[in-house]
Amino acid sequence: VTAHVFNGKAIIQEMRAQIAEDVRRLTERGARPGLAVILVGDDPASHVYVRNKEKACQDVGIYSEVYRLPTETSQDELIALIEKLNADPNIHGLLVQSPPPPHINERAVIDAIAVHKDVDGFHPVNVGNLLLGGAETFVACTPSGVMELIRRSGVEPAGKHAVVIGRSHIVGKPMALLLLEADATVTVCHSKTTNLAEIASQADILVVAVGRPKLIKREHVKPGAVVIDVGVNRLPDGKLCGDVDFDDCLDVAGHITPVPGVVGPMTITQLLSNTVLSAKRSLAKRD
Ligand code: NAP
Repeated sequence: VTAHVFNGKAIIQEMRAQIAEDVRRLTERGARPGLAVILVGDDPASHVYVRNKEKACQDVGIYSEVYRLPTETSQDELIALIEKLNADPNIHGLLVQSPPPPHINERAVIDAIAVHKDVDGFHPVNVGNLLLGGAETFVACTPSGVMELIRRSGVEPAGKHAVVIGRSHIVGKPMALLLLEADATVTVCHSKTTNLAEIASQADILVVAVGRPKLIKREHVKPGAVVIDVGVNRLPDGKLCGDVDFDDCLDVAGHITPVPGVVGPMTITQLLSNTVLSAKRSLAKRD
């Protein structure tokens, strides 16, 4: 049996059309959603990510501001800009592209972002709300995008065994919490896990966020499983590939995501969606 391959283009097009419609309605009411992105330094991959975010905003009509700051920008200067944007009523979402240069403390920067504008969902209050539940929170974009893909697979997480490989703050941990919240039985694996294939091959839902090209082979996959590959790795020939050996797993998995094309654009779509959500909340407070 060949797996159902998620059609990134169709899913993203459908979701962004809905977002564009929301943006149009908000704009008519004088509350056009606005996103500010700050990039410090000259990391080429970060520049590509920021350009993609800027373009995605333009495509759906979200107002966007991008600040490309030199590497030598001080932490104080960066935080001063964040505070200015925190107070700007045209900006509903604000993020600093990760990673900042080494002289900047990323945690201090995230702490400075207003909780109600933290559309990346990285601020400790939003992370805490994910654990405890809370009104007006933001969930990190990659894991919430993965949950949307799982919903679209038609596989109901409740009662299923979900295995998450990777335990980073931005993907693995929030992913595990969202799956738990959706009543899955969740196992989290990481670099010290000794029997990865044994655990992964029990998963009805397998989410892989490691950063090792083609780590996951068919022996890691339960027949019929939903396999979501978050990994993005650059091969020596310049091509991108995921953490899952797509060709090897294609006739074992039930659903599978190709890399690139699904999780990356889905993450940006969630960022747009969080920005719209923030604008809706601010409009509700105004009216
Ligand atoms: P990260 O912070 O480097 O975390 C990687 C995780 O994988 C760690 O928990 C690590 O374990 C675990 N790990 C490393 N080697 C392993 C192995 N051999 N077996 C099992 N677990 C292993 O990475 P991240 O930020 O979560 O990102 C993961 C991947 O997703 C990267 O390729 C990144 O580029 C990609 N990504 C894509 C998007 C997107 O929008 N498409 C967004 C975010 C990330 P320890 O904790 O024990 O070190």
